[in-house]
Amino acid sequence: MDASVATLLHTAGTRLAKTSATPHLDAECLLAHALQTRRSHLFAHPEQCVERDTLRRFARLVGARSQGRPVAYLTGEREFWSLSLKVNPATLIPRPETELLLEQTLYFVPTAARWQLLDLGTGSGAIALALAKERPHCRITATDISRPALAVAGKNAAALGIANVEFLQGEWFAPLPGRRYRVIVSNPPYVPDGDPHLDTGDLRFEPQRALNGGPDGLAMIRKIVQQAPAHLDPGGMLMLEHGNDQATRVRDLLSAAGFSGIQTFRDLAGTERASTGRFAD
Ligand code: GLN
Repeated sequence: MDASVATLLHTAGTRLAKTSATPHLDAECLLAHALQTRRSHLFAHPEQCVERDTLRRFARLVGARSQGRPVAYLTGEREFWSLSLKVNPATLIPRPETELLLEQTLYFVPTAARWQLLDLGTGSGAIALALAKERPHCRITATDISRPALAVAGKNAAALGIANVEFLQGEWFAPLPGRRYRVIVSNPPYVPDGDPHLDTGDLRFEPQRALNGGPDGLAMIRKIVQQAPAHLDPGGMLMLEHGNDQATRVRDLLSAAGFSGIQTFRDLAGTERASTGRFAD
């Protein structure tokens, strides 16, 4: 049997095309993982013969992917803001659109700032760790209700050698009585109950608690907006990711809670993705 890299990628890509929108990329990520190498190695050595054990591992991975399991859970990692992060089914898989949240937050935080920043519902630690890396003089607090998620986040911090982050367990602000921050950022759950999106693709395998925002999707955003003023420094900023049809409602919530300078940011596709407001003293 011919088991060259090129043949395996072709066969697996064809098989995954039935269930995945990105079959070739998936096949490359899985083969690179089975071979414990990088995708670039596959492109440089398409003729390389793959040995039997690896072949078996790869077949198992492709089988799981064809059942819908997300590539990031199969390889155990996902890249976010150029950081390689460990992920597992206790954490949401970091998404490229969340990089917009980070980018807009960084505009607000000067490079040399020595501020206290907060990431609510940190999951794998993606936002907190990227902030910590980009603003090394800031101190980042990150909370999550899920202990297994925080275990992943802690491992990520250690693997990346990032020390200016502390992780605390609890729902939203619960572990932070009396503490205030210059910036609060969150990618909370905001998919409404019954949204068909929850039953499709990778989302089926992700923690529902990290995705589902109640009847109108805004239950958690509402909580965060209401509680944030008690945890913001004067002039401090709250920055929230939200669903593409939630921007008006999120701006209204911010306004009702006393925020000013309210703005919404669009991603590269023009979709309204994140909104922010400042809390006046
Ligand atoms: N953006 C995600 C999705 O719709 C949802 C993430 C979230 O709820 N925070 O796939």
